[in-house]
Amino acid sequence: MLLPPSDWLPQAPLEHLHLDWLTAAGIEVAILRLDQIDALISGNKWFKLIEHLKAADRAGAEGIISLGGAHSNHLHALAAAGQRLGFKTVGLLRGHAQETPTVQDLQAFGMQLHWLGYGGYRARNKPGFWEPWHAQYPQLYAVPEGGGGLTGALGCSAIQQQAQARLPTLGWSDYHAWWLACGTGTTLAGLVLAEAGAHPVYGALAVPDDHGVAPQVESILHAAGHGNGSYELQDASRGGFARVDPALLAFIKQTEQATGIPLEPLYTGKALLALKQQVEAGRFTTGTRLIFIHTGGLQGRRGFIASP
Ligand SMILES: *Cc1c(COP(=O)(O)O)cnc(C)c1O
Repeated sequence: MLLPPSDWLPQAPLEHLHLDWLTAAGIEVAILRLDQIDALISGNKWFKLIEHLKAADRAGAEGIISLGGAHSNHLHALAAAGQRLGFKTVGLLRGHAQETPTVQDLQAFGMQLHWLGYGGYRARNKPGFWEPWHAQYPQLYAVPEGGGGLTGALGCSAIQQQAQARLPTLGWSDYHAWWLACGTGTTLAGLVLAEAGAHPVYGALAVPDDHGVAPQVESILHAAGHGNGSYELQDASRGGFARVDPALLAFIKQTEQATGIPLEPLYTGKALLALKQQVEAGRFTTGTRLIFIHTGGLQGRRGFIASP
């Protein structure tokens, strides 16, 4: 499999975020633009793939096979990486064939698609699921849905290193904490590992509390042999994953007008709105410096905003 030289990594800009509610509270926020790391590859899903790609390379694979839905940011990042770096990709999709903007991109990037239906997709964690796919594509390496687990988290440590390296461009010598959207918590776990307790990581959950994110984060930290990470999770889901309300959409629009930074409603919009609520509730003292991670996901909002 073709992999870039080890020093090749798409680089994320780190910028001051100028918003009235931050100025009013005397809080400084820098936004790490993972949505702008590369012309093709975007978002935290690329970082979650890094160590999986290295493992595939070590296994002598010619490419990657993975799974996701018709708006999947994970499959999008994988297909873009395959196109950009020149390896083969196969996507197993949930449901029945449909033409979303994401699916059109996957095809344009050269990913080969198979639609599993809903029942077929539900079987993805059953024993034997991968057997026929390994038989059909023996030269490909399988990556689990979303690129999660410890392997995914380890790639996300690079996010912390990139931000560290760019602090001087802000005129900052240090920061107090991280703030980011969480789905599975893999990205957060990677930051917690990279920080090793140096700075706390606040996770704004895009899924309701009961979705098992905390145990997932703990199991990654445990697998890494790391017991005492400093992090905190809170519900930012506004009633459910993919639930969108007028106040959220108005907030995203205002923020985009004030900063020129695009957000999507499922992760980054909810995470920044949750931060606003916490800042206004006096959660952080004046002078606090936070790094907010723009985890990307903008490709997925095309289909989302177009459909009711
Ligand atoms: C997948 C995703 C997340 C959540 O990442 P996890 O590692 O699963 O917590 C956050 N933001 C965006 C835009 C995503 O696509």
